[in-house]
Amino acid sequence: MSASTSHAAGLLRFSSSFCQHLTMDQISEITQHLLRSSPDALVVVDADGMIRFANETVAELFGHVPDQLIGQPLDILIPARLRPRHGHHLSSYIRNPGNREMGARIADLFAARADGSEFPAGIRLAPFNVGGEVFVAAAIRDMTERRLINEELILARTEAERANRAKSRFLATASHDLRQPMQTIRLLNAALLRTAPDRTSQELLTQQGQAIEGMARLLNALLDISRLESGAIEPSIGDVALNTVFLELRSEFESIARSRGIDLQVEPCGFAISTDRTLFSQLLQNLLGNALKYTDQGTVRLSSYLDGGSLILLVEDSGIGIPADKLERIFDEYYQVDTHGAKRMGVGLGLAIVKEVARLLGLTIRITSVVGDGTQVRLYIPERLLVAQPTHAVNSPATAAGCVDGTTRLFLVEDNDGVRLATEMFLKLEGYEISSAGSVSEAQKFLERLQPGNIVIADYHLDAHNTGLELLLDLRRRLHFELPGIILSGDLPTVLRSLKVPVENCKFLSKPVDTAELLGAIAELSVASRSEDQDRGAA
Ligand code: ADP
Repeated sequence: MSASTSHAAGLLRFSSSFCQHLTMDQISEITQHLLRSSPDALVVVDADGMIRFANETVAELFGHVPDQLIGQPLDILIPARLRPRHGHHLSSYIRNPGNREMGARIADLFAARADGSEFPAGIRLAPFNVGGEVFVAAAIRDMTERRLINEELILARTEAERANRAKSRFLATASHDLRQPMQTIRLLNAALLRTAPDRTSQELLTQQGQAIEGMARLLNALLDISRLESGAIEPSIGDVALNTVFLELRSEFESIARSRGIDLQVEPCGFAISTDRTLFSQLLQNLLGNALKYTDQGTVRLSSYLDGGSLILLVEDSGIGIPADKLERIFDEYYQVDTHGAKRMGVGLGLAIVKEVARLLGLTIRITSVVGDGTQVRLYIPERLLVAQPTHAVNSPATAAGCVDGTTRLFLVEDNDGVRLATEMFLKLEGYEISSAGSVSEAQKFLERLQPGNIVIADYHLDAHNTGLELLLDLRRRLHFELPGIILSGDLPTVLRSLKVPVENCKFLSKPVDTAELLGAIAELSVASRSEDQDRGAA
């Protein structure tokens, strides 16, 4: 019996229930049969790399007569160009033998046929010992088809990734470019609403306004998700005091909650974490926004607690809940639960954005929910992200009650004609005095007229050389007082991340600007500068 058949017979011997009723001769015969009909080409070599056994499949695969291979070096099955390297591999394998699979992933493992042609091979090696002598059994397979399938799969994946990136780029560009006209339409609608002579026109314009708001929300969400997916967003990590974020969220959502009769509870949180402040706020905004959107009555609560080493932020609501079989899917883009009767209130991108942001920031999200009872979203912040104290104060964009102050004078710098005219018209109708300029050089004319209490409203991207923020800071330097400013940007997260230090007395608003938000910011800045004037007067 050859070395390999004795090895196989040995294996069969262990299978005692099978072997009990067989003689050694029968076992030997079965083993021979198994070896011959194996779908793999089987070769056994000794420690010197000489072939000591080859089955019949070797003939099919390599075109050699098995008996003529016995006593030949294994090199005969290896392409000449790979032989020197193979010799080295074999001797190091013999020194440290073990079961090993080769060729499943190695792209350059090839075998040579008798006619010299080559094929990609997959080889499984199993060493064994007979009478103190080491042998290696090799099962060899032609991997041509598998390689082809693999290559096709890789090509298909690369193509799918390329198409996905192209889709994200298209969405980012399209939604970004649509922001300017959207801004104009939004402002013109608000201006028309102010001047509409009769009730019917007002109702029509209000409905149009709601459709415009829906479109603006969709545009913002599309832009956010496409930027996140295309990898265009690099988190800017700093220490963030969670209570500051919580308070901002409360002031952002309390009027919505009040108007819907929902009790919004935001519990104080004494922790600071290391994260990207803008992205982190955006994540919680989406969660709280959903909690309010999908709750008709009762409570929405934001709280925090420690669990093991992790800090957990909990957003819970007493809303409509999510069916258990839908929980997996709600993080998919454009997926919305089809709740009978409940109207579709979003665009299905909020949780996809939450998922991407959580991934970027190293946070984990878990949702539990009971239909009709409410939903709990837990945001797990790992211990390594907790910091003892925030190292610097954060710029708080808390919104003030939107009071209109007819005496505040506004100076607008906006390079897009449509947006400039619409903004001017809207703010005039709101009772403000307003002057405008279409460029930084034109804005120089403001310099002599600007006084404390005036507010500059500027687009962030003014031209190739200047940002609205640089213009504001330059005006401040030359005027020697802290001129209040409102900076508008179509890419607010990037602008906020680029700020090295907080800019006092300045509001940053996203384009297309929400008209109520713009009025709120103007009112807040005028209140702040009036109380500063009073302080100066008292001193
Ligand atoms: P949308 O813009 O539709 O709110 P999201 O991606 O934020 O999109 O959420 C996906 C879906 O998950 C929603 O359409 C809604 O059906 C469900 N959902 C999310 N949050 C809640 C919640 N707090 N309560 C009930 N359903 C929710």
